[in-house]
Amino acid sequence: MLPTLHQRECDGPRGGPGRFLTVALLVGAVLLLCAAASPAQAQWLNLQRDMMGTDLRIYLWDDDPDAGQAAIEAVVADMSHINALMSPYRADSELSRMNARAAQAPVHASAELIEVLEQARAVSELTGGAFDITYASVGHLYDYRRHIKPSETAIGERLPAIDYHHVKVDKAAGTVSFTRPGVRIDLGGIAKGYAVERAAGILRDHGVRHAQISLGGDTRLLGDHRGRPWIIGIQDPRDAKALAVRLPLSDTAVSTSGDYERYFVADGIRYHHIIDPATGRSPHAVESVSILGPDATRTDALSTSVFVMGIQQGLALIDELPGFEAIVVDSRGRLHYSEGLARAGAHGNGKRETVRGNAGAK
Ligand code: ADP
Ligand code: MG
Repeated sequence: MLPTLHQRECDGPRGGPGRFLTVALLVGAVLLLCAAASPAQAQWLNLQRDMMGTDLRIYLWDDDPDAGQAAIEAVVADMSHINALMSPYRADSELSRMNARAAQAPVHASAELIEVLEQARAVSELTGGAFDITYASVGHLYDYRRHIKPSETAIGERLPAIDYHHVKVDKAAGTVSFTRPGVRIDLGGIAKGYAVERAAGILRDHGVRHAQISLGGDTRLLGDHRGRPWIIGIQDPRDAKALAVRLPLSDTAVSTSGDYERYFVADGIRYHHIIDPATGRSPHAVESVSILGPDATRTDALSTSVFVMGIQQGLALIDELPGFEAIVVDSRGRLHYSEGLARAGAHGNGKRETVRGNAGAK
């Protein structure tokens, strides 16, 4: 459920938050005038609801509220469609049908699913396999709600099924097959980013120029907050009420992956929902990774990837990608920034800034 978005209260149609209210309280006659002068045409619109197993929030400005409402409805319809295709929780989703049958014969896949599979594969190649949707071949053996983890034997047996090369996409035929039995895929590390990136496109097509769309840990900002940046807060991974960092941002995507949303602790070990494809187990070097970049599909997949890769390798990768930046909170609460953010004045290196207490300076 990250990053936490700190939305400011809605501005009046011509700016000056609270100004109309103050004046109205002082002079009753002005209240009437203000009410008459507040045009119904232009306003901030807000939506909050459950979507894709998490919290969807849309906050946008539209000069025409009816058009803004229609834009929001178009986004909700599109996200519901993506969920119906890609949910691992629905037995009738394309993803579930693929997991059940693609090892036996090629299975039909929608253009949307094929696009996500191709984007996932590109990130797998970019990250040397740290991002791998076939992590689920082992990952689906964990049950975070019921605190169930697979045995060593079960992990060992299933581990060879983790390898994105096992997934074959035939774009011309519109089908997907798996090259061996036991392969399972899950798009939890990329589908929400894909959905919010599509949402940004839908809003843009509806003429919206100022919006933020968040789906769990994935946020897409369209434009700015009408003349000033949006303020995005990144949560302290060990204190849901505290922020590790606040960032002024516009027209960008931000994704956070953390070890604190879906997890359980057994024998002092934190079993969480990010799995290192090389081991079939959760990595522990970091507590959260936030990635900024031009495209939410990428920032989503990269936040999961850098979590697996760890601080050095992960930040080195982000430093090589133009337009992308990273903020990592390590296992001692220390903050690490990619080069671009460090140059822009963020401290980092894990030496000076810590999220909590005196865990930092070594
Ligand atoms: P969320 O936004 O749901 O917190 P993240 O972006 O942090 O998700 O990604 C975590 C999700 O990614 C997991 O719930 C799982 O579905 C999927 N996942 C876990 N490990 C990997 C991996 N190594 N490669 C690709 N996807 C993964
Ligand atoms: Mg992710």
